[in-house]
Amino acid sequence: MAAVHRVLIQGGGIGGLTLAAALGQRGIEVDVVEASGPDAVLGVGLSQPNNALTALDEIGVRDACLEVGFPFEPLAIWNPAGVQVAAIPPADGRYGKPSNNAIGRPVYNRILRDAAEKAGARIRTGATVWDMTEDADGVEVELATWTGKRTPPVRDLGADSNRYDLVVGFDGLHSRIREHLFGDRYTPEYTGSACWRITMPRPADLTHIAFAISGPAKAVLTPISDAQMYFGLVTPEPGNPRFDPADFVRLAKERMQGFSGRIGEMRDSITEDSYVSYSPLYHVTVREAWFRGRIAIAGDAAHTAPPHMAQGAAMAVEDAVTLAAALDEQQTLDRALDAWFQRRRDRALFVADMSLALLKQESGGDTLTPDETELLKLGIPGAQARIAQEAY
Ligand SMILES: Cc1cc2nc3c(=O)[nH]c(=O)nc-3n(C[C@H](O)[C@H](O)[C@H](O)COP(=O)(O)OP(=O)(O)OC[C@H]3O[C@@H](n4cnc5c(N)ncnc54)[C@H](O)[C@@H]3O)c2cc1C
Repeated sequence: MAAVHRVLIQGGGIGGLTLAAALGQRGIEVDVVEASGPDAVLGVGLSQPNNALTALDEIGVRDACLEVGFPFEPLAIWNPAGVQVAAIPPADGRYGKPSNNAIGRPVYNRILRDAAEKAGARIRTGATVWDMTEDADGVEVELATWTGKRTPPVRDLGADSNRYDLVVGFDGLHSRIREHLFGDRYTPEYTGSACWRITMPRPADLTHIAFAISGPAKAVLTPISDAQMYFGLVTPEPGNPRFDPADFVRLAKERMQGFSGRIGEMRDSITEDSYVSYSPLYHVTVREAWFRGRIAIAGDAAHTAPPHMAQGAAMAVEDAVTLAAALDEQQTLDRALDAWFQRRRDRALFVADMSLALLKQESGGDTLTPDETELLKLGIPGAQARIAQEAY
C-alpha cells in the first residue's frame, strides 16, 4: 500500500472498527481513539443486510456474525393486533443468501473489535483527538482523555504528539472531525421522530422482522438471536423533548397502547426493570468531498439518516472496506480519497435521502420536497432492489 503507512481513526463504532481491521490486515499501522469507555452501553440490535455481510466477509467476520445472529429472508407486515397481512420477499441481487442477519450491537462490536485487534490495531478507549496540525507530509495529532459525555475532554499534557499519514473521522452523527473540516456547515437536523428500543425474549415464531403500524406509531420487531428479539417503536416526538430515563418504560408503553394481540402481550411483558433505549432521529448529509488534504470523514459522520432502510451501519461498513481498498489500489493519497468518494457518494446519499423521504412520508408527507416525492415513486422494494443490484 503506497498511499499511507500510519492511520488514526477517531471513533471505534461499527465503521471505525471495520476500517481498523481492513487496514491492519493490509499491514498498515492503525490507532483508534474511542470516546466511550470499555463498558459503554452500545444499544440494542440491528440488521445486517446481505450487502453488509458481503463487506464484512472482506475482513473475515461474516460467519462469526451469522453464528451469533439471526439470519432471515422475507419481511412481514402485521396488523396492529399482530396478525400477518403481507410478506415482502427480499430483493434479488448480487449479494447472496442470507438476505439479512439481525444481531445484538454489543456482540457485533466485540466481533469487530477482535478482528481489528487481531489485525494489529491499537484501540484506546476514553480518548479523543484534542488538536490536529496538518502539513504537506502528515498530520500532527494531540490526544485527550475523555471520561464521559457530560464532562469535557482533558488534554493529555506531556503526552507525545503522534504523526499520521491520514486521519479518518468515523465519529458518528455529532462528528468533531466533520466540524474540523467544515465548521458549522453541516449541523444535524432533528427529524421530528424518535425510536424506542427494548430487548425481550424472542417468541419461537418470530423468525423474521415484522412491521406493524398503529396510528402514528410504527413497531419493528426484530429477532436478534435464538433467545432474544428487540421491540423498536418509531413515534413522532415534536420539539425533540428531553425525557428523564426513569420515565422511559412508562412513556414507551403509553406509546404502544394502540397495539393488541401478540404485540400487546409483548408490550405488557415490559417491566420497570426492562432496559429501554430512546434515540431521537437526526439527519445530516455532506454532499461535497468527504475529505480535505489528509483528513476524511465516513459513515454517519458523512451521512446520517433515519433507520427506515436499515442500511446506515451497512453503509458505514461499505465505506470502510472501500476506503481500505482505494488506499491499497492508488499510489497517492489524493487519488485514493478521490476515487473512494466518487465510488461511495451516490450510493450512500441515495440510502440517506430515501430513508429521510420514507420517514417524512410516514409522518404525513407535508414536508416532502419535490425530489423526495420523486424518489418515493421507487417504493421500498424498488429502493431495496437498487441497493441489492448495485456494487458497493
Ligand atoms: C434506531 C436505529 C436503528 C438502526 N438500525 C439499523 C439497522 O438495522 N441496520 C443498519 O445498517 N443501520 C441501522 N442504524 C444505523 C446505524 O446505527 C448507524 O448508521 C451506524 O452505527 C453508523 O456507524 P458509524 O461507525 O459511522 O458511527 P457510530 O456507530 O455512531 O460510531 C461512532 C463512534 O464514534 C465515537 N465517537 C463519537 N465522537 C467521538 C469523539 N469526538 N472522539 C472519539 N470517539 C468519538 C462514538 O462513541 C462511537 O463509538 C440504526 C440507527 C438507529 C438510530
